[in-house]
Amino acid sequence: MQLGDFTYHRPKSLPEALALSARLGAGAMYLAGGTEAIPEMKRGRERPEHLISLRDLPELRGIRETDGRLEIGAMTSHGEVADSPLVRRWAPVLAEAAGSVGSAQIRRQGTIGGNFCGAVPCADTPPAAVVSGATLRLLGPKGARETAAETFFLGPRQNALEIDEVLAAILVPPPPAGSGAAYERFGLRKGMAVAVAAVAARLVVDGGAVREARVALGAVAPVPLRAARAEAALTGGVADGETFARAATEAAAECRPISDIRGSIGYRRELVRVLTLRALLAAARRAEGSRA
Ligand SMILES: Cc1cc2nc3c(=O)[nH]c(=O)nc-3n(C[C@H](O)[C@H](O)[C@H](O)COP(=O)(O)OP(=O)(O)OC[C@H]3O[C@@H](n4cnc5c(N)ncnc54)[C@H](O)[C@@H]3O)c2cc1C
Repeated sequence: MQLGDFTYHRPKSLPEALALSARLGAGAMYLAGGTEAIPEMKRGRERPEHLISLRDLPELRGIRETDGRLEIGAMTSHGEVADSPLVRRWAPVLAEAAGSVGSAQIRRQGTIGGNFCGAVPCADTPPAAVVSGATLRLLGPKGARETAAETFFLGPRQNALEIDEVLAAILVPPPPAGSGAAYERFGLRKGMAVAVAAVAARLVVDGGAVREARVALGAVAPVPLRAARAEAALTGGVADGETFARAATEAAAECRPISDIRGSIGYRRELVRVLTLRALLAAARRAEGSRA
């Protein structure tokens, strides 16, 4: 496994990085933590002539509250996201998902931006961001634009970034009153293992009824999938095990898994059913707790 030849660039400002990317075009690739990009280069699936490091760009780092939203810089590591008191307050489900990524080394080196831009179907943080209603700030030579986390993913390893754009930040709105959320994933072992199936769920519960439901599935479709039928089965229903079990069955039916060495289609559907039920029960408990 050889990396191949490439030129390494280490710009010191965001405008410099964007200008480099615009000048070098399709032969260039951004490098964040490298935990996805370097193995892909070794496997020969990526062959960039230029790597543009995002390491020295303070504009892409840090977690802060701005204009009534939580802003997480794309270069923030999973460990920082998982441990951040701000993320735990605004979107605990995102902290939970970031804390489940790989090992301590991967969480220290890998970034939340890289998790999105790699667009691998089993990535942990995107489903949590989707149920949190997050949007993504994309920056390019023409300026900034925002897109919903939900519509950023176009297929396995394909995202909505234009060739000269960078993902700058993940923006999370405040959680609705009376809401609770949870992330459940299944890997083949307790140690470092990517998700075979994963479910993020957020419920708004009021007077024992589900006012709003969001369910996003990971690793069981080409992109993080909103489980529309499960959400419809939940909305307006009683927040109890019976409603959740019905919704879990809908989620299992509407996911679009593949068979591979980690699991068959049938096995993944059953995982989705079980994980959805667990995530809904946990989300409902937290929603109740948020009103206490
Ligand atoms: C042993 C191992 C275990 C892993 N376990 C998990 C796991 O359990 N869960 C999980 O979700 N992932 C896992 N991963 C995958 C990987 O660690 C994560 O996806 C990580 O978040 C990638 O981030 P990075 O900073 O390393 O990205 P990089 O590898 O640097 O980049 C990934 C891709 O995104 C692009 N990119 C990165 N940042 C930006 C940006 N800001 N703007 C535009 N493009 C950008 C790069 O050009 C590249 O194409 C694992 C990887 C390894 C090696």
